[in-house]
Amino acid sequence: MILLLFGPPGCGKGTQAPLFKERLGIPAISTGDLLRRESEKQTQRGHDIDELLAAGKLVDDALVNELLETRLAESDCHEGFLIDGYPRTVEQASHLMSLLERLEKTNPTLIHIDVPEDILVSRLSARWSCPDCGTIYNVLSKPPLRHGICDNEGTALIQRKDDTVATAHRRLEAYRNLTDPVLTYFEATGSAHVLHVNGHQAPDDVYAEIKAQLDTVVFAPVRRRKPSA
Ligand code: AMP
Repeated sequence: MILLLFGPPGCGKGTQAPLFKERLGIPAISTGDLLRRESEKQTQRGHDIDELLAAGKLVDDALVNELLETRLAESDCHEGFLIDGYPRTVEQASHLMSLLERLEKTNPTLIHIDVPEDILVSRLSARWSCPDCGTIYNVLSKPPLRHGICDNEGTALIQRKDDTVATAHRRLEAYRNLTDPVLTYFEATGSAHVLHVNGHQAPDDVYAEIKAQLDTVVFAPVRRRKPSA
């Protein structure tokens, strides 16, 4: 099972990824997390990545492809995986398809979570997360029980450097220009099963809609094809 969580920044990919990781027992890989980890290293590369992330710009395709490829080579990915935030360019999409072919993995499913742009800007600038468990909060729609404190860990919440209004606009522009065409690439080539989900609803409802579509469109045909025991 290969799932690609796709959609604009702030659409809820990071909220849905751990839910499907748990439900399906596959690792959830976020290229944003891989890059943030890399940016913390005291190296020139770490520094360059940090600047790009803070500016809301995409990181170079070759570097992201390399980080992802290294992660997919780990043993927990053999039975399948979910990727959140990749591919974000047509070049990455084409690289992913070659990589999957080499790994003898077929039929990826791309889950497009769609949300209107004005909602995304307010969501992004209201987003806080726990540095320990990664839980994402939103001061408007999903505040923590105690202001600024994680419900699970009791840790002080942090805001990502790129979750400001100005950076949110730049990230959405990068999405429109570079990432949106990825959808056309998959639909035109037919190289992934594409599901469209309404992301402008409560996270539980987004989860239920994805699950229902996976059950009917992806899992049910597979079950029907399997010979009975
Ligand atoms: P995310 O955590 O997915 O919102 O990503 C945070 C930031 O990491 C993005 O705004 C980009 O700067 C960078 N990033 C994440 N994934 C990619 C990717 N696939 N290609 C290029 N840059 C990426």
